[in-house]
Amino acid sequence: MSTFKAPKGTYDLLPPDSAKFLAVREAIAAPLRNSGYGYIETPGFENVELFARGVGESTDIVTKEMYVFETKGGDRLALRPETTAPVLRAVLEANLHKAGNLPVKVWYSGSQYRYERPQKGRYRHFSQVGAEAIGTEDPALDAELIILADQSYRALGLSDFRILLNSLGDQECRPVYRDALQDFLRGLDLDEETLRRAEINPLRVLDDKRPDVQKQLTGAPLLRDYLCDACKAYHEEVRELITAAGVVFEDDPKLVRGLDYYTRTTFEFVHDGLGSQSAVGGGGRYDGLSEMIGGPSLPSVGWALGIDRTVLALEAEGIELDIPSATSVFAVPLGEEARRILFAKVTELRKNGVAADFSYGGKGLKAAMKAANRSGARYALVLGERDLAEGVVQLKDMESGEQAAIGVNEIVAELESRLGRRIFG
Ligand code: ATP
Ligand code: MG
Repeated sequence: MSTFKAPKGTYDLLPPDSAKFLAVREAIAAPLRNSGYGYIETPGFENVELFARGVGESTDIVTKEMYVFETKGGDRLALRPETTAPVLRAVLEANLHKAGNLPVKVWYSGSQYRYERPQKGRYRHFSQVGAEAIGTEDPALDAELIILADQSYRALGLSDFRILLNSLGDQECRPVYRDALQDFLRGLDLDEETLRRAEINPLRVLDDKRPDVQKQLTGAPLLRDYLCDACKAYHEEVRELITAAGVVFEDDPKLVRGLDYYTRTTFEFVHDGLGSQSAVGGGGRYDGLSEMIGGPSLPSVGWALGIDRTVLALEAEGIELDIPSATSVFAVPLGEEARRILFAKVTELRKNGVAADFSYGGKGLKAAMKAANRSGARYALVLGERDLAEGVVQLKDMESGEQAAIGVNEIVAELESRLGRRIFG
């Protein structure tokens, strides 16, 4: 072991388990690519002000969780704690919203950094796949995103999750509700920090996880009862569209999001096998964010799904993903000359799209066959002294144990034909 360990609150993704991680990322990304979302990648750090303004000065993310540092050039940067604000920044900077093709639909995948108290499912470095549809107000777009997230989870085989849905209102009706909620909160027996929060961002008090606070919140006014007609109609349309798509959801009138810029549609995916870190993903409409970071009015909607927690959800449901073995053919040379010949064949197989690996380090037959087994390859190619003399190689089917001698020059064609269905199917 080296003297160094992964930093607190982080962990390494290692093979073979890391394949599960990639499969989850792919399962979430595939429906997006299939629905007009283009890939976007932004830097892992941004000007700290982007998050202060775009995520909100009063949020936990900005006040407690950001990794902020100053560069040698004097810039104040932060490792990204989330990627919605960076994506919008990038879209505005490149003027994608002016290309006359709204909504701008993009998806991303990558590392997020939050200085949190590490627990199972809560890390200081984690990964998300996210999707954003920027510049259009249309309940079908909100519905599309919820349906696609649901489709991803179902494709992974998950079923023990719930979709919680709410509307946060808009500039017209939310302030009225905010005042009513504030009045209510002022009458409660809350600690000082929570009272302060109630003055700055009262909706977030509803999100307080402590049971004693939750108890006092029974009877709090609900946004549902304050929605203006436009918000009500919009929300009803979203509900109808996702219902028609067969997506089951629960109305959760107390659902609020930690981020200030959310308006109208807000939702969370929770998994019931994860204990207290139950949110696997969340999102909603953020019509106010663009203006908050100096852009024009660009009503938008998006979500971010946590890959780490989705992997934990798979484990909680006992789901084994069907991940095909990465290697199809494993070559075992015995002796120097065999080594040169088989290495060339492996290179040729790879060029032809056959996943092949090689026994390195001059291993003997026994150790090399063990490595072949471990690779998960369907076929092993063994080339020994006698085979060399005869111009053949032993092709072993690792599943059935059957072995046949084939001509060295037939290796590529034979394996392509045997694996054909697996490669191209
Ligand atoms: P929580 O309420 O659990 O703190 P959040 O509201 O901070 O979640 P979002 O900012 O909405 O989470 O991020 C979307 C998703 O990213 C979450 O649903 C979760 O799956 C994942 N996520 C957020 N924070 C972490 C973390 N510290 N470690 C692992 N995954 C995380
Ligand atoms: Mg959080």
